[in-house]
Amino acid sequence: MNKEELAKIKQKALEEHIPIIMDDTLEVIENRLKENKPNRILEIGTAVGYSAICFSEFLNKNGRIDTIEREADRVLEAKDNIKRAEVDDKINIIEGDAVEILPTLNGMYDMVFIDASKGKYPFFLKESLRMLAPGGIIFADNVLYKGYVLSDYNKHKQRTAVRNLREFLAELQSNESLETEISEVGDGLAIAKKIK
Ligand code: SAH
Ligand code: MG
Repeated sequence: MNKEELAKIKQKALEEHIPIIMDDTLEVIENRLKENKPNRILEIGTAVGYSAICFSEFLNKNGRIDTIEREADRVLEAKDNIKRAEVDDKINIIEGDAVEILPTLNGMYDMVFIDASKGKYPFFLKESLRMLAPGGIIFADNVLYKGYVLSDYNKHKQRTAVRNLREFLAELQSNESLETEISEVGDGLAIAKKIK
């Protein structure tokens, strides 16, 4: 991969306020991926491809990433970025709404990164669990949503997102096939490993 291009892609995304993964969050995920290199990664929420490009470093040889993005202009930019970063052979960008795309997928994934509309996290979880390989890990970003999720906060235009994030975390924690950690890193990162 071309690290110089990656730095430029990150810089531009930050300048344009595209919500790319935070450095601390990325470090936590990368440390996990180093221990256990995935063959197949599913990402929900590509934006301009920054996190997918970062994750591609940790794939097994011949590993692949499928990543879903619904905004056409972002898909175009992400395609350009993965070429410039020289990882376009490892990343497959799927254009469309993940709510419609996910039910059409049938992969077995070793890792899923959920990083799209917060109100849809319970649905994304259901679909991710269907496709998660034994021993696979789900990472979900922004699960504490600026602290709203764990406070008594409920008077906000984002209250549906907060309610659905709470539901998502409760489902993770009550699922006996998962070993779940909720990390306060960044905007909150859920880490759930499929143990059976
Ligand atoms: N993972 C990226 C950042 C993703 S930002 C990174 O760290 O570099 C979230 C992205 O998800 C946005 O680009 C948004 O357009 C997209 N998104 C939100 N809801 C979606 C949905 N239902 N289906 C597909 N993409 C969605
Ligand atoms: Mg995010």
